[in-house]
Order: sequence, then C-alpha cells, then structure tokens
Amino acid sequence: MPSMKFEPLTLWFTGLSGAGKTTLAGRVQQALSQTQPCFLLDGDEMRQSLSKDLGFSPSDRAENVRRAAAVSRMLNDQGILVCVALISPHAVHRAEAARVIGPARFREIYLSASLAVCEARDVKGLYKKARAGALGGLTGIDGDYDVPLAPWMIIDTSAEAPLESCDRILARLAQSRRGIMQSA
Ligand code: ADP
Repeated sequence: MPSMKFEPLTLWFTGLSGAGKTTLAGRVQQALSQTQPCFLLDGDEMRQSLSKDLGFSPSDRAENVRRAAAVSRMLNDQGILVCVALISPHAVHRAEAARVIGPARFREIYLSASLAVCEARDVKGLYKKARAGALGGLTGIDGDYDVPLAPWMIIDTSAEAPLESCDRILARLAQSRRGIMQSA
C-alpha cells in the first residue's frame, strides 16, 4: 500500500475494560507513526498522571473525558493525529468530546466485545475484584455503558486477532475522503 498521510484526526476507541482499546489504539498509533506524528492517549496512563486527582464518580468520569478531548483538540490543532483509548461509558460525554474535537475530526471506534468475553480475559483483574465486592462502579458490572448508536466503526475483538482489527481500521482510514494520497 502506498504510504498515506491524513489530516489530523482523533480516533476514539471506546468499549468495556478488556475490550482491546489499549491494544488496538497502540497498534494503530504505531502504524500511523511510520508516516506522521501520532499520539497515544491511554486512559490507564491518564489516571496515573493527568487525571490522578479523579475518581470514577459520574462527574469525575465526565471530567476525565473532557480532559482527553481537550488534549486531543490541542494536538489535532497542531497537526498531530491522536488515538484515544478510554472506556468513556456515557454517550453524552463522548458527544461532548466530539463537539470539542470537532465532528469532522472525531472518529468513534466501538470495540464491541461482550461483557462475558471481557470478563473471561480480565486483563487487569478488575472483574474478579468487582465480583468479589472489592471494586465498585466497574463499567459493565455496576456501572452503565451506553453502546454507541452510530460509531464510525464497530470492531468485534472477540472475532478477530489484533493485527486484523488494526489492518481494518487503517484500510477504513485510507478509504476515507480525508486521506491524502502521497507517493511512497
Ligand atoms: P482495554 O484497553 O480495552 O481494557 P486491553 O487492550 O488492555 O483492553 O486488553 C485486550 C485483550 O484482548 C488483550 O489481551 C488483547 O491481546 C486481546 N485481544 C484479542 N483480540 C483482540 C483484538 N482484535 N483487538 C484488541 N485486543 C484483542
């Protein structure tokens, strides 16, 4: 495939814990970084730095999404692509993120792996803790997740390997009208 460059976009990966956001956002970011600056904004990392002061109450989750959107906007404004990996469970907060970033730049990617699949993976041991009553408010257990109604892409990470998912996202991007062909 010829190398392609894109106008600054924000690829916003949303889904349950364990759905594959960090894995896929990281792979896509690495692939895009081959040809242009692309920043990975990971929810888990944000929680340890930029959003260290926040918990998981509805207002804190809203604030976390607001910060991710604000950073994405600033980076996009400087010509940098952004891959965001954030549960961002509430549709209203994602809609606000789209408004801040700009609807033309915002690309919502819903990782649709079911709760059963995510719980079986239990990458971070969070489901086990929640089931044992040691963790409250986990999205999918006792925290709501609003399934995106019209995402740019839906990826069922229980049906394909990360490499395949990554390739499909890159192919979709390449097809999109905002892609600018450049000779290799
Ligand atoms: P999240 O960031 O959504 O909490 P992670 O990326 O940390 O999820 O973990 C997802 C797990 O699912 C990883 O172990 C990953 O290898 C696995 N997985 C299997 N198939 C896929 C896929 N198609 N895309 C992303 N992750 C996948």
